[in-house]
Amino acid sequence: MENYQPQTQCVHSGTHKDPNSKGIVTPVYPATSHGYLDTEVKAYPRYFNTVNQDVVVRKVAALEKAADGLVFASGMAAISTSLFAHLKAGDHIVFQKRLYGGTSHLIRDSFGDYGIEYSFADGDRIEDYEVALKANTRMIYIESPSNPLLGITDIADIAQLARKRGILTMIDNTFASPINQNPIPLGIDLVMHSATKYLGGHSDICAGMVLGARDVINPIRALAKKFGGSLNAETCALLERSIKTLALRVRQQNQNAAQVADFLNTQSWVRQVNYPGLKNHPNHEIARQQMPGGFGGMLSFELESGIDPISFQKNLELISSSMSLGGVETTICSPFLTSHAALSPAQRVAEGIDDQLLRVSVGIEEAGDLIKDFEQAVQKPKMALV
Ligand SMILES: *Cc1c(COP(=O)(O)O)cnc(C)c1O
Repeated sequence: MENYQPQTQCVHSGTHKDPNSKGIVTPVYPATSHGYLDTEVKAYPRYFNTVNQDVVVRKVAALEKAADGLVFASGMAAISTSLFAHLKAGDHIVFQKRLYGGTSHLIRDSFGDYGIEYSFADGDRIEDYEVALKANTRMIYIESPSNPLLGITDIADIAQLARKRGILTMIDNTFASPINQNPIPLGIDLVMHSATKYLGGHSDICAGMVLGARDVINPIRALAKKFGGSLNAETCALLERSIKTLALRVRQQNQNAAQVADFLNTQSWVRQVNYPGLKNHPNHEIARQQMPGGFGGMLSFELESGIDPISFQKNLELISSSMSLGGVETTICSPFLTSHAALSPAQRVAEGIDDQLLRVSVGIEEAGDLIKDFEQAVQKPKMALV
């Protein structure tokens, strides 16, 4: 399957055909009890080794050009299990400055309890990471593009810096999806996805994945068996089915997001648009190189002051104001009320999260319909009153 293109791999990689029925799709095997005599594998869902789990892992491993992987019950299960498997008390890890809120909470609330030291890089430049390294640094963890400002970190540079020093690297590749960006060929060791987002793609599955070489996945598998956090067969089957259309969906989302970003960029009521595909994005060139499949379906923008972001969202007719992302439907949210609600106003300013900022997950609808919805929302009379 390695020789096929991603769109083909989405459809075919990993499929387990049933020799009895000769059906062309993977059956759902719900068993939690399996025979163990004369078998190579002692299958059990929490051992992360059932057929439906394997199928999903093989499909996404093919897309990410990884040898091995694991599927979890959530993205956070993938992140927490991977980090705790590779870090022990007294170890140090460097994190990207801006991270998904759940990851940030895990670090700030829990790492101290386990004696794991951490620092945040001061910025997105390689020098910011270099100065954060210590003698006991074991890992570097990044997220690109980042939430919600769509910051871009140079993945190959980070991988090179870490490899020279024998430091393990991990990336949250959720925003890009495996269609747009493959960090493993760029030298990253571990790639994680919140499969709740693009891999699931229909806003109805919660799952997570981590991919990498066998020797870096094995310690995670060993801890995962103890932590639990495995995904059931039915949801694995739904996820497998969803990924068959991943390339189609993401390509449409890339195109739509580019059109929406171009539109917003010309509007007088918009102060700032954050999209890696825009030439005015500070790291557009890096994004162009490391995201050969496209710039993704995520963007954010700041409304001019005087336009109330809540009324604006309520005025939208097609686009839902909703948390989470990566679905076929376009959604919009205020980071200051959702992912960054736990921060104080001063902390939000420091993070660059303005109250006028809106984050958009662009779906697969007709881009023109999305643009019309933004236009009517800002023109509604109610808008002028605030
Ligand atoms: C949602 C998300 C996660 C966490 O995934 P869950 O499936 O909600 O546990 C991690 N990283 C990013 C970038 C996300 O968007």
